[in-house]
Amino acid sequence: MSNTLHSNLWALTRGYRHRFAAAVGAMALASLLLLSVPLIAKYALDVVMEDGLASGIPFLSGLATTVAPAHPLLGYLSLSGVLVVLVTLGAGVFHYFRGRLTATASEALIRRLRTGVHAHVEHLPAVWHDGMDTGDVVQRCSSDVETLRVFFSGDLVEIGRALILVAVLLPLMFWLDWALALVAIALMPVIFACAWIFFRRVQFVFKATDEAEAELTACLQENLTGIRVVRAFSRQPFEVERFGGFNAAFRNRYQRLISLMAVFWSGSDLLCSAQIGLVLIIGGSFVADGRLTVGDLFAFLTWVAMVIWPVRQLGRILTDAGKASVSLVRLAEVLDAAVEEQIRSEGTGTTGEGPAPAPAAASVPGRGSIEAKHLTFAYPGGSPVLENLTFRVESGQTLGIVGPPGAGKSTLVRLLLGFYEPPPGTLLIDDVPIEQIDRNVLRDQLAVVLQEPFLYSRSLEENLRVGREDADPELLISSMDDAALTETVAAFPDGLATRIGERGVNLSGGQRQRLALARALLRRPAVLILDDSLSAVDAHTEVHVLERLARRRGRQTTIIVAHRLSAVRDADLILVLGEGRVLQQGRHDELAAEAGAYRELCRQQGLLDDDEDVVQVAGEED
Ligand code: ATP
Repeated sequence: MSNTLHSNLWALTRGYRHRFAAAVGAMALASLLLLSVPLIAKYALDVVMEDGLASGIPFLSGLATTVAPAHPLLGYLSLSGVLVVLVTLGAGVFHYFRGRLTATASEALIRRLRTGVHAHVEHLPAVWHDGMDTGDVVQRCSSDVETLRVFFSGDLVEIGRALILVAVLLPLMFWLDWALALVAIALMPVIFACAWIFFRRVQFVFKATDEAEAELTACLQENLTGIRVVRAFSRQPFEVERFGGFNAAFRNRYQRLISLMAVFWSGSDLLCSAQIGLVLIIGGSFVADGRLTVGDLFAFLTWVAMVIWPVRQLGRILTDAGKASVSLVRLAEVLDAAVEEQIRSEGTGTTGEGPAPAPAAASVPGRGSIEAKHLTFAYPGGSPVLENLTFRVESGQTLGIVGPPGAGKSTLVRLLLGFYEPPPGTLLIDDVPIEQIDRNVLRDQLAVVLQEPFLYSRSLEENLRVGREDADPELLISSMDDAALTETVAAFPDGLATRIGERGVNLSGGQRQRLALARALLRRPAVLILDDSLSAVDAHTEVHVLERLARRRGRQTTIIVAHRLSAVRDADLILVLGEGRVLQQGRHDELAAEAGAYRELCRQQGLLDDDEDVVQVAGEED
């Protein structure tokens, strides 16, 4: 295990170490009590088979002659029996405390780990999520955490118990007879060596098994998310077969793991039996020579069995430890990934260029002017998607962005939202470079309606209030009005309380877009961004929404990314993007009048008449 892993494991146990230590202590006391049982039995056997009460424990012999003077031998045996029961009872009490302490400590620790991993994932940058399969992340947050839970709840204390048993029993055995003690531990190095080799092997095989399970989860997750596409393209047989492939790969690897464990179990069984057999043969000959009593041999055999049991358990513990170490590595990969704020404060943006950014500004004026200065951006490992973009919109103005698919429109939106890091000083909000703005402050100023809005499977109202839970009802109603949502909501029997299915499955595309728009409007942002988010609404609704947005001119900067020019024709500035570059910029009339990409778009969308003049739409003269 690397140092990072050690420190991760150590840090993880913070606050619960005393409980684990107490659990190990309780386990040690229970084990010590149980170790005395063979000793009590040894003396009882010696009393019967050797020199009577003189061979017994002096205190018990004295007590036996006092309480049962007529039958002291019977009295000794009865007292031994009572002592065994009391000792076992005491051990039971300590076992109970061990169980309780381990359970509360491990469950609390795992809860902390699960919450920590989830919180960390929530703060990881978009770049990290781009490079991960959702199923794999789910696997890490669930199955890998569970593997650690198993380790902490059972194995950690078992390791302590094995060590304590070995530490206490060895001196006891050497005290009784050093030669037989050497025999009793003769095969232990072999058992340990096998367990270690097994541990290394299990680590390797479990990693492969865990990864196969992650692939299986990712396949299932992708399938369920895209179930409509699967149906629409009649891909069920293909997907079933694909899932079957991952399932078979997982089963094969799991079977390898099971076979490996079976080999270890049977091998260690053989070694353990051989160890007991050796003690029996040599110990028996020692009894025959009069070197040991029958009681000594009995105690020896019981202790060997007692010490062999946890050593044999070592196989299972090492299996779990091997699994836990793999899970820990996988979780450490998540926890070691830098969160957004850390990346920015260390100046390791996605482009990796330029000087380190200045410390995050606590706030920006919140007016909403936006400026790009020779902005060039490439996704990690890719070629530039945006090249040398330069434009400025003043606060309260409307910016339209048009261009063919893949031109970089959404990329510009993602940069504004701080999902990716542009080169320092190339993108400014309210004249503050975006990399200097705290992400929470930045996103507080912006509200976005994405191309494919994400909705929660909660009520309409809960979806509307995301990010503005405390908004007053009038604001809610006016936002719904502006987004042309009021009538839609009224048509649902439960109104705002209507629950929508997963990701808004029971809403139409246009309804989803309007709901997402109302949600964004409710935030009353300094900058509203519509990323092709009026594409699914009809022309009448589009006119209504644009008219309502126009009323916010001067108070709110609006960015409208669109394919339909009708959505941007009233913008103060229109950017025409093509292959990541600004091909043209200006107002609708200017751009439509000059030859170029925008005029071509006007022609394609019927905005030019037969004489190639810009078509006037009703109300435009006003
Ligand atoms: P559309 O109109 O179809 O939405 P767009 O103009 O919004 O297109 P973008 O989504 O900005 O285009 O994509 C611009 C380019 O960046 C495309 O070539 C795309 O393949 C690439 N791209 C987009 N997202 C990523 C990403 N996360 N990682 C790598 N490349 C990406």
